[in-house]
Amino acid sequence: MISTGNKIINNLSDYEKERTSFSWETVGRDLDLGPEGSGNNITHLAVDCHAQGKLKEIVAFRFINKDKTWEDFSYLRLKEETSRFANVITGLGLQKGETVFSLAGRIPQLYITALGTLKSTAVFCPLFSVFGPEPVFQRLHKGEAKILVTTLAIYEKTVKQLEERLPSLRNIILTDIEEHRSEKILSWKRLMNEASPDFQIPPTSPEDPALLHFTSGTTGMPKGALHVHKAVLTHYITGKYVLDFHPGDIFWCTADPGWVTGTSYGIIAPLVNGVTSVIDQEEFDAMRWYSILEEQKVNIWYTAPTAIRRLMRMDIKPREKFKLDALRVILSVGEPLSAEAVLWGEKNFGMPILDNWWQTETGGIMIANYPAMQVRPGSMGKPLPGIQAATAEVTEDGLKFIKENGKQGHLVLKKGFPSLFRTYLHEEERYNKCFVGDWYVTGDLAKMDEDGYFWFVGRADDIIKTSGHMVGPFEVESTLMRHHAVAEAAVIGKPEPSIGELVKAFIVLKPGNEPNEDLKLDITGFARKHMGPAVAPKEIEFVESVPKTRSGKILRRLLKARELGLPEGDISTLEKT
Ligand code: AMP
Repeated sequence: MISTGNKIINNLSDYEKERTSFSWETVGRDLDLGPEGSGNNITHLAVDCHAQGKLKEIVAFRFINKDKTWEDFSYLRLKEETSRFANVITGLGLQKGETVFSLAGRIPQLYITALGTLKSTAVFCPLFSVFGPEPVFQRLHKGEAKILVTTLAIYEKTVKQLEERLPSLRNIILTDIEEHRSEKILSWKRLMNEASPDFQIPPTSPEDPALLHFTSGTTGMPKGALHVHKAVLTHYITGKYVLDFHPGDIFWCTADPGWVTGTSYGIIAPLVNGVTSVIDQEEFDAMRWYSILEEQKVNIWYTAPTAIRRLMRMDIKPREKFKLDALRVILSVGEPLSAEAVLWGEKNFGMPILDNWWQTETGGIMIANYPAMQVRPGSMGKPLPGIQAATAEVTEDGLKFIKENGKQGHLVLKKGFPSLFRTYLHEEERYNKCFVGDWYVTGDLAKMDEDGYFWFVGRADDIIKTSGHMVGPFEVESTLMRHHAVAEAAVIGKPEPSIGELVKAFIVLKPGNEPNEDLKLDITGFARKHMGPAVAPKEIEFVESVPKTRSGKILRRLLKARELGLPEGDISTLEKT
């Protein structure tokens, strides 16, 4: 860090210069990465190397409890706890490359599970604790979970009923029971107490699988995007350039690790950069959030448009009620951040909110507004040094790059950066379909202006973004069709200002069922029970039929156009009913 008096000099102060001289090899050398060795392991770089050096006593994680008291984990304590966990799972017979899942809120055990699993060279996969049994089953099944870490309450409510359908799930570790219940259902406390705090990290190749994140698909069940240890290079460099970490910084990433942001930036990036993270175990509450910013003297705050919109609506003038002098950088990701929100940040915090873009598959931030660069409100910013982004038409003959400024096309990224996913688990064909030549086609539509800033246009597919969650319509439709009265279902995202899009289902009933309010309530209850409130439809409409192509695919695009009163577009493949 270079600090002149109170003024901090941003890590990325000359974007163009850095972009020209950047190489991933240099970042690898900075982190001392080699071909094989424990030094390549994410947890070595995030925790152990700091615990052996001068950051040993520095707080790595501060977990804030409901009553605002907190529990600190220094880098040294985190090293010991994650070593204990690595010993626990190794002792349970877990092999390199096998998968440990977590299903819990933002409790310390989740974070220890993540880092301890990586340390052992097994693969870590976090799930949202708000998921109902069906989404949990789909993911545990596809990810071939061997060990699951969860709480007693979630186990009783969600997991217990799935156990028979998950024969390869060998152990369930409950964070809050005192004693083991059986050979399978084990007590975290007991296991951790009996484990040694020393663990020798096995040799790790930069290409060894590390993290599995599920993301929603349009046509099938969720896809498991697999990332490798080398992704840490992106976490490290984006922490430096985009989040602008400096020694001594207090960072708050509000995302849950169930979403990739809460892992890449809620766990790995701040640790690799040796800063302190605060983690609030509670859900959004405007006054609580502002008071955490004040009391914890947060310097860098990474959040999402869905929270920003809620804060904007409440019209609290934060700087009149709270002392927020420590705040230096505010960032947002996950959905489009309106120009109005960027300016609201300027007015209410004295700094613009910096939008950035990335997705589960890219593992880390790809396009960003940087603290030292002129912000264009409403734009996602410019590609990270080391990342080549473009807009293109996808044609039968390959990509046709768009030359005209401001013309919309598919947002594509050149392959070859460390955090790009390596596969969709067990779905090589689905994975291959994402690539055209040397380019990864992101599924988003964007425009680029004359100065190289990217502007988000929308998704190229039917995936719904609701309150920051990616929801695949197919997954919701499949569950709805298990309700006794439902013959067919088609699901779309309907724009809704406060949550981005709401999940709306069009339902065709089986003969003999009356389309009335009681049935709507019953189907809603069924959906919430099986999928959880984050995924279940918020709106249901009964219809006589759903539009389909001649080959039988639901034309969600047409349903959406009709819903919004927009032109219907090309309906040549529509099946006449
Ligand atoms: P996820 O994989 O759940 O993180 O979702 C990734 C998707 O969220 C992207 O493909 C975009 O559709 C959307 N997204 C993420 N960041 C932004 C942003 N800054 N502006 C607009 N959309 C975004």
